[in-house]
Amino acid sequence: MATRPRFLVLDTSALEGGVPELHGARPVVTPGVLRELERRGRLASLEPLVEGGMVEVLEPGNDVLKEVLAAAASVGDELRLSPVDVEVLAAALDLSSRGDVQLLTDDISMQNVAMRLGIRVTGPIVGRRREVHWMYYCPGCGASFDSPPADLICPVCGTALRRKPRGRGSKR
Ligand SMILES: [Zn+2]
Repeated sequence: MATRPRFLVLDTSALEGGVPELHGARPVVTPGVLRELERRGRLASLEPLVEGGMVEVLEPGNDVLKEVLAAAASVGDELRLSPVDVEVLAAALDLSSRGDVQLLTDDISMQNVAMRLGIRVTGPIVGRRREVHWMYYCPGCGASFDSPPADLICPVCGTALRRKPRGRGSKR
């Protein structure tokens, strides 16, 4: 049997600084996430990836949306979720029939509801919303940069830089 595909579902917060590290997973967003990024002027770096098919845009159906709302109600987070949050969670739920899904969000309510739905969540900043401090590094030569070059290309070896949250003392 073939390996199950892996999907990384990204909410708006996960994409505001650009596309995060994917570890070989296929990135998925929803139409609502693209609209939010556009409104915040953050769509430019993502648009070519969407157009080139590197990022999948999934619009979840009504059945999964309802399932998400029911799960949100059962954990008391229904009112804390925006329509886009619900859409992103529904996309993650939808994909879990097609492969292994991980949701990347820093939103506590989304994390709660995702766990309720059995969706794996990663958030760089669990418990610390909107406070990510990114560290950029080169997967090619291993160089790291606190303030990366504007083109996000390694000045040492020319590889595209990646980023990860910078440790801020609190180790888990
Ligand atoms: Zn390098």
